[in-house]
Amino acid sequence: MASIQRRKSVTCMIGNVRVGSDAPVVVQSMTNTDTADVASTVEQVASLARAGSELVRVTVNNEDAAAAVPRIVEQLDDRGIHVPIIGDFHYNGHILLKKYPACARALAKYRINPGNVSVGRKDDSNFGTMVQVAVENQKPVRIGVNWGSLDQALLTRMMDENSRSADPKDAREVTMEAMVVSALNSAAIAEKYGLRRDQIILSAKVSGVQDLVDVYRSLASRCSYPLHLGLTEAGMGAKGIVASSAGLSILLQEGIGDTIRVSLTPAPGGDRAEEVRVAQQILQSLGIRSFTPQVTACPGCGRTTSTFFQEMAEQIQSYLREQMPAWKERYSGVEEMKVAVMGCVVNGPGESKHANLGISLPGTFEEPKAPVYVDGRLLTTLRGEKIVTEFMRILDDYVDSHYTSKAEAPVTA
Ligand code: SF4
Repeated sequence: MASIQRRKSVTCMIGNVRVGSDAPVVVQSMTNTDTADVASTVEQVASLARAGSELVRVTVNNEDAAAAVPRIVEQLDDRGIHVPIIGDFHYNGHILLKKYPACARALAKYRINPGNVSVGRKDDSNFGTMVQVAVENQKPVRIGVNWGSLDQALLTRMMDENSRSADPKDAREVTMEAMVVSALNSAAIAEKYGLRRDQIILSAKVSGVQDLVDVYRSLASRCSYPLHLGLTEAGMGAKGIVASSAGLSILLQEGIGDTIRVSLTPAPGGDRAEEVRVAQQILQSLGIRSFTPQVTACPGCGRTTSTFFQEMAEQIQSYLREQMPAWKERYSGVEEMKVAVMGCVVNGPGESKHANLGISLPGTFEEPKAPVYVDGRLLTTLRGEKIVTEFMRILDDYVDSHYTSKAEAPVTA
């Protein structure tokens, strides 16, 4: 794993998941079902948890949703799924948490948006009510500032002060500073209402990469709360994936970020769990955590004549994903395995030697054979129709013989 110096923070327990400081960076996701629809929400949480989401957030936007939360948690428990469920509150969280105490108890954490919890009020009593419920139930809180719903009174005041200063900053800088101030002020108020420092997580989400980097660097340098990281409204497809990867990677490389979420807009009918896989891939590409064996595949070029090579890379990647749940149960360290699938001899053998297992397929005008390397040495050369099946068998044998079986692992006193 990469030796990235993590920012020091207090650690916070969200259900059974430890967040902050030297704890692993945690992958979080959020459902997009109607929370009041218990069956659909349970199904989606289960799918996100299966994909590897370690925390799952659900919106609690109305009374039906609040009433549904305990049933969702109970049904997940019945299915053996114990992923902590976080309630996302806006505008009416103070009412819902008071009126539905079972919801308040069932949730593992509350997300409060300080920009809209006290809309229409001059005091912080709504925010205080939510914090008091958190204190009574001993639940942590994420104070989640979002620039799309930033506290307008605070922003206006700071803009006014800035315009009167001798050396005014530009509006962007003032907005970023207002986000940090909103998060820090709200955290101070939460502590005043009785929440412990280790029960508070902060976030300050924006939709631009450079803004994200600036706002989190500032936040990270001014507090010791764990930080939840994510680009808000990242977008669809490649745009969302690339923007999130760019922003999160810069910060994670600097040791900033204790939980992450990739807020992708799924294509209609698309798989919500994609955001979990992207978040895991960001952490794994940076060498921060390992989740699944990695396939290194060359892009292919004019030396590869058919789609056979792309299909093989795809089949091997899918096979690894399918096997991982079972392998993870049985073997320690298998998620760190590296597999290379290369299109010809130019870089094939070289790249294969750097992987645990590598195969180099024949390119144009090359002899129809595929050398297989294991731990840097040529093991065999495959030929014919069954190259993929035979390579997968070698893969299975490698996993079985190189990773410690959990059943056989010595029990320490
Ligand atoms: S390894 Fe061979 S097929 Fe793959 S990109 Fe390089 S030259 Fe092309």
